[in-house]
Amino acid sequence: MKKDIYIADDKILSDVLNKPQLNKDDIVYLLSLKDDKDISELFRKADSVRKEFCGDEVHLRGIIEFSNYCEADCVYCGLRKGNKQLDRYRMSVEEIIETAKHIHSAGIKTVVLQSGEDFYYRKEDITRIIKSIKDNCDVAITLSLGERSFEEYDEWKSAGADRYLLKHETANEKLYSALHSHQKLEERLAHLKYLKSIGFQVGSGNIIGLPGQTIEDIADDILLCKEIDCDMCSFSPFIPSKDTPLRKISKADLEFTLKTMAVARIVLKNTHIPSTTALGSLVENGREKGLEVGANVVMPNYTPNPYRQNYKIYEGKICISDDPLACAGCLRLKIEGMGRKVSEEKGHSLKRIKR
Ligand code: SF4
Repeated sequence: MKKDIYIADDKILSDVLNKPQLNKDDIVYLLSLKDDKDISELFRKADSVRKEFCGDEVHLRGIIEFSNYCEADCVYCGLRKGNKQLDRYRMSVEEIIETAKHIHSAGIKTVVLQSGEDFYYRKEDITRIIKSIKDNCDVAITLSLGERSFEEYDEWKSAGADRYLLKHETANEKLYSALHSHQKLEERLAHLKYLKSIGFQVGSGNIIGLPGQTIEDIADDILLCKEIDCDMCSFSPFIPSKDTPLRKISKADLEFTLKTMAVARIVLKNTHIPSTTALGSLVENGREKGLEVGANVVMPNYTPNPYRQNYKIYEGKICISDDPLACAGCLRLKIEGMGRKVSEEKGHSLKRIKR
C-alpha cells in the first residue's frame, strides 16, 4: 500500500489512541504502524472500543445471493457483465422466500437479499419477496441490490425492508471512475443519502488493496463512512477474480486489512462492522481475526446449492461447497469458542440507542 504524503513521525501512539476524535493525519499514522507491539496495541484498543460501544454479542445475518446476473461492469468483480465465463443463475421468487424461511428457522434474525444489479427482478417482484418474508418470519430484511431507482427504494421501504447495503468501494473519485465505467461516486453517495433520508439503516464500505489506492484513500474511506453516518460499514480485502481485468493484481495484505478494520472501529465507534467472508477467504480463520479487531457481525451464506458456487465475485471464496444449512452452526461454534455470544436479536442499528 502506497503512502503518498509525508507524515511526521512525532506522534505518540497512546496519545493518538486516546483522542476522542481522530483526524485524517491520525488515521494515516495508525494505518502506517509497522512495529508488532504498536499494532497489537491498536488491535487491543479497537477490541475495547467494540466492547464498550457494541458489547460482546455477534450478530448473524443470513445472506441469500439470489442472482449473479449484473448490468454493471466493475473491473474487480467476477459478476461483471463483461465476464462471459461465469455460469449465470437466478433464483425464483418462491425459492428466495423458502430460503428466507430456512434462515428464520435457524434462529437468525436478519435476512440479507443480495444480487448483482439485475433488473430482471422488477420492483413488484422484490416487494412481493419482502412482504412474504415479513408475513412469515420475524426477521429484519437487508437489501443489497446495487443502485436502483429512488421510487423502488420508496416502495421497498414501505413494504417493510429495514436496511440497504451499498458500498462506496473507494472515496477516491478518480479511482472510482476507473473501476466503474458507467457509474460515478457522486451518484452513489446521492443514493446513500436518499436511502438514509427515507429511513433505511444504511451500510457502506470499501475494498482494500485496489490498484493505485493509497493509505490516504483508505483514511478517506473511513472518514466518508463517518460523514454518511453509516449504520453498518464493511472493510473488505480485494481478492482477484480470474476472469476480470484485475486478475493479475495481488490480493490485499491481511495485516493492513485488519489495521483498517481496527482503525475504523475506533473512529466509527457504534457502527456495525462485519468480519467479511472475503476476509475468511483471504486467510484461514480470517473471520475470527476480524472479530478480534473490532468486528461484531458475521454473514453466514444461505445461498442454496447448486447456485452458491457461481456467486464468484473473487476466487477462493470459502464454504461454497458446504451445505448452506451447516454454515450458521459452524459459525456459532467458532464465535462461542472465542468467548463471544451470538445475538438472539435482530441487531438493528446501534445508533438508535441513545447513549
Ligand atoms: S460489484 Fe456489484 S455491481 Fe459491480 S459488477 Fe459486481 S455485482 Fe455487479
